This record gives sequence, structure tokens and C-alpha cells, in this order.
Amino acid sequence: MRTQPRSVAEEYLAQTPGSRALYERAERVMPGGTTRTSVYHPPYPLYAARGEGCRVWDVDGTRRLDLVVNYTAMIAGHAHPAVVHAIQEQAALGTSFAAANAHEVDLAAELVERVPSVEKVRFTNSGTEATMMALRLARAHTGREKFAKAEGGYHGSHDLVQVSTRVDLEHGGPEDAPIATPDAVGTLSYALETAVVIPFNDAAAATRILDRNAGELAAVIVEPIMGAGGMIPADPEYLQALRVACDRHGIMLIFDEVISFRVARGGAQERYGITPDLTTLGKVIGGGLPVAAFGGRAGVMDVLDPRRPDFLPQAGTLNGHPLGMAAGLATLKLLTPAAYAELERLGERSREGLRAVFAEHQVAATVTGDASLFQVHLTPGPVRNHRDSRRGDAAQLRDFVLGLTNRGVLLNMRGMGAMSTPVTDAEVDELLEAADAVLTAARQPA
Ligand code: PMP
Repeated sequence: MRTQPRSVAEEYLAQTPGSRALYERAERVMPGGTTRTSVYHPPYPLYAARGEGCRVWDVDGTRRLDLVVNYTAMIAGHAHPAVVHAIQEQAALGTSFAAANAHEVDLAAELVERVPSVEKVRFTNSGTEATMMALRLARAHTGREKFAKAEGGYHGSHDLVQVSTRVDLEHGGPEDAPIATPDAVGTLSYALETAVVIPFNDAAAATRILDRNAGELAAVIVEPIMGAGGMIPADPEYLQALRVACDRHGIMLIFDEVISFRVARGGAQERYGITPDLTTLGKVIGGGLPVAAFGGRAGVMDVLDPRRPDFLPQAGTLNGHPLGMAAGLATLKLLTPAAYAELERLGERSREGLRAVFAEHQVAATVTGDASLFQVHLTPGPVRNHRDSRRGDAAQLRDFVLGLTNRGVLLNMRGMGAMSTPVTDAEVDELLEAADAVLTAARQPA
């Protein structure tokens, strides 16, 4: 007879035999059984069988509330009928061509109409390619080679941005003068020399560093809401200080809105009232298909115009893919002003509700985020930059998240969550009740 309650890990193992079986097969054919590091977590990830609205069913048939929504991408939830219809309609007409297509023009026009800084836009297949192209364009436009990035900022997986993303608190240097650190084995020493690292949310220190390096900088790239680094909104004053420094020195200001575009019709740049020179977009603009984009002032984007003798080429077999363009457009059409207001209201309720639950259980926690986005940090806070987030107890947080998974609610292992349009107050209640139950159970010895 069982006298002790199951540990969180034991409960997960008991609930997920189908995922375990798939993982054992996967492990033989893929390193660590995965093709995407961010989906892996110990002991093994869930394998999804299907999704509908804000629910995901795993291969064992267990239904859970999905608040990860593929790392914020699925803003209209899974298998939204309008998105499915758009994809099916186009799939029946052919999936990819060596030709331009009408959906591509429609989605470009929609983005230009929405995003203040975007007068012209180009599509890519991933956020990684979007930031790679935006940085290359900035180099082509300015004739300079280096760029500045905020410590903790994540801009995808190309070589140049594999710097100071996950900061080692011991080796990162002073908080107001961070040093460029490699993200992982394989980071180029060239990348460490090319990236100038500025602190996030410290306008004075960032300005000092930009002034010192101005002559060499093509761009400053920053997320208006730092996503992977902790879902931490930038102060508008910080973004404004970057804007001023960039104007002073002829540096291109790039907002990486791959995540933050979802906070308002025109993205965080509209919400916070600061207009960059270039913007990168991804996730929601593809409605769950591999679509991203970069755009900006016409005068800068026209460097890509193939009618020019010295233009910057942009290749990509699947760029402007008609399925992705159709799915993205169908998704954006669902995002009315009322939809954004509701996403924000539910996001705010989630943040406030989680703060109250942690306070009730006397667990030191900080909940960051804005609009439809939130993240839990197990630290008293405040959490204003990535270093603050790293001070949280990551192992305890993973236990909390796995506990939620066992109770039918999915966050990512860093404690990040996002609202989607199918979420209602009932789902927020479900999140808060599950959090309360996990914290209650954590008090009992396992
Ligand atoms: N920029 C930001 C801000 C991101 O959050 C991400 C992905 N999470 C990327 C760029 C890279 O996008 P992708 O994964 O599509 O390459």
C-alpha cells in the first residue's frame, strides 16, 4: 500500500506512458530524442496528438489547458476553423511555387498597415532568419559591422546572436557594463567581438556604451518585451533613450517583436509609443506555420530592391510560402481591437491571480509580463532584467511547472504563459486553482 504521496516526477511518469514510449524511440534517432531544445525537459517531453482551441491532447489522450501555445505563437488557439480553412483552401491549390502569390501581398499590406515602423516588409521562414537579415540590412545601409544587443536578449539561433543570451551571473561582468559571453560551445570568437552588450532597462548605462562604440555600430537590436530572458517589459524610457542614442549616431534601431507583436495591433512599438527603424516579426504572423518577417522604413528596405545595381539579395526557397501567408492572414483578421482588449484583461487577471496565490502560500515569487504575456520567477524580485530573472530558483520552478502539467495546465519550464483568444475566465480560474493545488501539495513531504 502506498503511504506517501507521489512525487511530481513520479506522477508525470505515471500519466505519460505514451510519451515515454515515443521518447525512447526518438532517443535512438535524434540526439537527446529532440529536434528543438526548448521543447525538451526532463524526464522527457510530452508528445502532442492534437490541439483544439486552448486545449492540447497528448498521445495518451490526456487533455490539458495549453498556456504555452507554441511559445506564444498560437494566439488564436489550435486548429481555429478560419485558419484551418485558409490552409486547406490553399493546400488544394498547390503548396509552393517559384512565383510570387497574392496571399503574400495581402499579408505584407496588413503588416504595413498595422506596424508603425513598417513601410515595407520581406518574409522569411523563421525569426532567426528575420533577425539575421535585419542585421545584414543594417550593415549594408550604414557600412558599419558591429551591433549592440541587450544582455539576456534572444534573437534566434544564427551565429551572430549567440552572445550573452543566457548570462552566467559569475562571468557576465558588472551589471551596468556587461561583457559579451558565449551562449554555448561553438560560439564564434568573431561573434563575441561583433556584439556589443548593453544592459536591459538601464538607460544611462546603455547610452554610455552606445556613445563609446558609436562609430562602429550598424544597429541596436532589442526586444521591447524581453521574451526568453524572462518576459520582462522594457521601460518606455529605456526604449526612448535607445532611440535618441541611435538618432545621434546614425545607428539603426531594430525592435525584435517576434514575441511582443502580439501585445497590440501594431505591436509593442505602438503600445509603448517608440518607433524603431527596423522591426522583426514572427510567431503569430504565420498562424502556426513557419513565417517570420522583417520590415522598416522604405528608404532602408529599398536596399533589397533587385532593380538596384548594388542591392542586397534575399534568398529562400520557401519565403512567402502561400500556406503560411494564408494562415497568417486568417489569424491576423481574427485579432480585432476587442480581441486584444480581452487578451490583455485575461493576462492581467492571470498575473494578479498568480501573485495572490504565491503570497497566500508565502512563496517568494515575482510575476512579470504585459498584455497577454506572463512569467513566474521564484525570487522576491523586482525582476527588471535577465540577471534578476536568473536569481530565481530554476529547479523549484521546473517542479512547479511539472506539478501544473500533472494537474492539466501547461506553462513552459521557465514559467512562461500566454493567453490565446479561446481562453476565458474559466481557464484563468483553472490556472489559479492548479497553482494553488501544486503549492499546497508541495508542503506535504513527498
Ligand atoms: N526573436 C525572438 C524575440 C524570439 O523570441 C525568437 C524565438 N523564440 C526568435 C527571434 C527566433 O525565432 P525562430 O525560433 O522562429 O527562429
